[in-house]
Amino acid sequence: MSNALAAGGGGESLDSVGPASWKEFHSAGRGPWGQVADAEWNDWRWQLKHRITTLAQLERLMPSLTAEERAGASLANAKLALAITPYFFNLIDPADAACPIRRQVIPRIEETHTAAWEMSDPCGEDSHSPVPGLVHRYPDRVLFLTTDRCASYCRYCTRSRLVSNAAGYDFHPEFDRQIDYIARTPAIRDVLLSGGDPLLFNDEKLEYLLSRLRAIPHVEFLRLGTRIPIFLPQRITPALCEMLRQFHPLFISIHSNHPRELTTEAREALGRLADAGIPLGNQSVLLRQVNDDPAVMKAHVQKLLMCRVRPYYIYQCDLIAGSAHLRASVRRGLEIMDSLRGHTSGYAVPTYVIDAPGGGGKVPVSPEYVLSRNADRVLIRNYEGKIFEYPEAADGAPLFKALKGFEEHELA
Ligand code: SF4
Repeated sequence: MSNALAAGGGGESLDSVGPASWKEFHSAGRGPWGQVADAEWNDWRWQLKHRITTLAQLERLMPSLTAEERAGASLANAKLALAITPYFFNLIDPADAACPIRRQVIPRIEETHTAAWEMSDPCGEDSHSPVPGLVHRYPDRVLFLTTDRCASYCRYCTRSRLVSNAAGYDFHPEFDRQIDYIARTPAIRDVLLSGGDPLLFNDEKLEYLLSRLRAIPHVEFLRLGTRIPIFLPQRITPALCEMLRQFHPLFISIHSNHPRELTTEAREALGRLADAGIPLGNQSVLLRQVNDDPAVMKAHVQKLLMCRVRPYYIYQCDLIAGSAHLRASVRRGLEIMDSLRGHTSGYAVPTYVIDAPGGGGKVPVSPEYVLSRNADRVLIRNYEGKIFEYPEAADGAPLFKALKGFEEHELA
């Protein structure tokens, strides 16, 4: 994106240019911060200190705020979390009220409209929490909540009850009790640190936490869930990567939703993590007028691979209170999955899941590829819509015994 565009100077919207430009890498540029020295701009602490957190800042930087955005931002930090790093702010196209980056981080008054089926804790995390800050919903793994802070706040966050404390949740993780629970529960072999964003901790604090978890003999696998490479790539320093590489096997799940978030800065930050031997996956949330479009999603998953990130999940947006204006339909999600499978590399195709409301866990949802199935045969369709028949194997028997013609031909 050009600086002129990022600075509010108008010009051609990247979205109007179409999918070809989505695949290109651009720098976020300096936008209104053109006078800031390189050393400051590239310092993650400077970025955090200069986040946009108030309506007054937004009005100054983006005179094109709509009435809905102004009303939403007026509730910042009283009722709604608001923070945007200068770096990420520069990805917004101020000339486009429907900009997909803007829709993710600028509050709107619709967030205060709540439907009867929406919830403050849509995944039932609080009811699966044996000690504060730990969610134990699946048999062999736990979610370890580290902090209520993020570099920027997403408008559809599943944990909006908790993050930034804007809603008065009063989040207090108790690391000793969390670690103690894991240590005395041998079934736990996988720990996911999330939040909030664990990469907002300084290196020393994060190293201390990871060391304590790594010291538990039955913890085989550590994971970090973070949006830092997208909101604040400056945080991915060589020193952080050196520290993290001590804790393998350590995987990182990032969270990116639109190809425009994959800038040259993000690509370099992700490259540093990959060079430290950390496998990277991406979790996207399906969002209306952000990425509920097969062309956008295809460009996004392909661009993720170019950043050495494997698309892992597309989440149906949880029933978080005030998110109706951002939720796309399941029908749309299925259409997108149909447009990916077979039409691009298998590595680029994530799993589409619905987190079952109330705490049922992730349920994969997929277009129908099995049209019918009985004891003898399975009727399947391929990505082009062509139909094929596969002779069913007898359970327990080697496959060639079930394939009569194949058996005679191959063994002749
Ligand atoms: S980065 Fe994650 S935890 Fe933080 S606001 Fe966004 S979705 Fe929520």
